[in-house]
Amino acid sequence: MELVKRTKIVDLLKSEAYGSTVNVKGWVRTRRGSKQVSFIALNDGSTINNIQIVVDVEKLGEDFLKPITTGASISVNGVLVQSQGKGQNVEIQATEIEIYGTADPNTYPLQKKGHSMEFLREIAHLRPRTNTFGAIFRIRHNMAYAIHKFFHDRGFFYFHTPIITASDCEGAGQMFQVTTMNLYDMKKDENGSIIYDGDFFGKQASLTVSGQLEGELAATSLGQIYTFGPTFRAENSNTPRHLAEFWMIEPEVAFNDINDNMELAEEFIKYCVQWALDNCMDDIKFLNDMFDKGLIERLQGVLKDSFVRLTYTEGIKILEEAVANGKQFEFPVYWGVDLASEHERYLVEDHFKKPVILTDYPKEIKAFYMKQNEDGKTVRAMDVLFPKIGEIIGGSEREESYDKLLTRIEELGIPMKDMWWYLDTRRFGTVPHSGFGLGFERLLLFVTGMANIRDVIPFPRTPKNAEF
Ligand code: ATP
Ligand code: MN
Repeated sequence: MELVKRTKIVDLLKSEAYGSTVNVKGWVRTRRGSKQVSFIALNDGSTINNIQIVVDVEKLGEDFLKPITTGASISVNGVLVQSQGKGQNVEIQATEIEIYGTADPNTYPLQKKGHSMEFLREIAHLRPRTNTFGAIFRIRHNMAYAIHKFFHDRGFFYFHTPIITASDCEGAGQMFQVTTMNLYDMKKDENGSIIYDGDFFGKQASLTVSGQLEGELAATSLGQIYTFGPTFRAENSNTPRHLAEFWMIEPEVAFNDINDNMELAEEFIKYCVQWALDNCMDDIKFLNDMFDKGLIERLQGVLKDSFVRLTYTEGIKILEEAVANGKQFEFPVYWGVDLASEHERYLVEDHFKKPVILTDYPKEIKAFYMKQNEDGKTVRAMDVLFPKIGEIIGGSEREESYDKLLTRIEELGIPMKDMWWYLDTRRFGTVPHSGFGLGFERLLLFVTGMANIRDVIPFPRTPKNAEF
């Protein structure tokens, strides 16, 4: 085959170099036609759109074309011409085709369209080849890029916090342990507790649930930082919004109070949504038309208004009134309860009809490091609640008083030996500071309109599932 430099389909579809010879490589989506002419819809992943290859059957031979079926990979040399067909500006009149790999129609699973999302999860190794997952993963990349750009442009530093940790940030027992010990032969002391002296780190270690505590170390030196990395939670919650392995973005800013924190969160999410609308419209349009007719409207809706800001106590009042007026929730509503997603969504979707930032939660349902309010009951927490998702961001102003923080740590019985380095931020040059965590896949749920978080990460890890 004549050597012609490859052009990506995304660029060819914009090209006006009619009459020039081009090369394109990709995977066959469909091939149809007649005895005289064959039409190949080719996709190379660079865009949701296919390029049409027009083949003179007589010239290349019917037998040669036979293995060019859905899923086969080919390289095509041909002439770029203006297309007479609808839906595309250009097409390629093939002069030469090389077949890289065939895909047996009897065994290649992505034959016809309309597979269920459940089935596609079982073939997560092949699902990026579908239009839907191509769109989702291109959007995922774009959102990651937008996040780095947002923070970099504002003078934040990307800070790498450890993935293996010996401290449990939230004080919760839902971490994955990391060990090199022989699980069949573990040394225990006289009380039956495992002796970790011989383990790799010489103590119990786990995968991180959050980079926040180390992020605070960085914020109280570099000023404003963000983390963007994988986090792990062994919570056994089989919901459409929870993964065992997910990516989190955690900005942390010295001298920011809770109001600055709310402003940052709102500006940040709006920036990401605007970026998606500006840079991923082909993919979003596809998802809007195929899955979720309200998607584009919902994305634009979030940009339009300011997010509602209201205290947890006011939120509970609204929910209690709703219950009094006949609204039925699965879980009870009372002051002190940890809100369920149905409560959060009621506030956002039914009551205010826009995103809500809920603040000043009861201290019992929030983490030890949140700044305590004067009332002695609540802390300066903020959760950003979104339509269809519920909580998308959780954050707070941090307790900067050494004494108050220490008292809280002792009240909760968090082992001091794990916390000494964290407390040093309050011992030496403590400052007011704030931050939050955005679940990357929750943002992607919102931007793609997908209903299940397993469908916005390439290889989801959930209870009883770590395939691929
Ligand atoms: P939820 O109440 O929804 O379980 P959380 O309060 O445990 O969340 P945080 O500890 O505040 O969550 O984590 C910060 C953010 O990380 C959340 O706002 C959410 O966007 C995301 N997140 C938390 N847990 C998960 C999970 N298991 N899978 C995916 N994203 C998550
Ligand atoms: Mn939270």
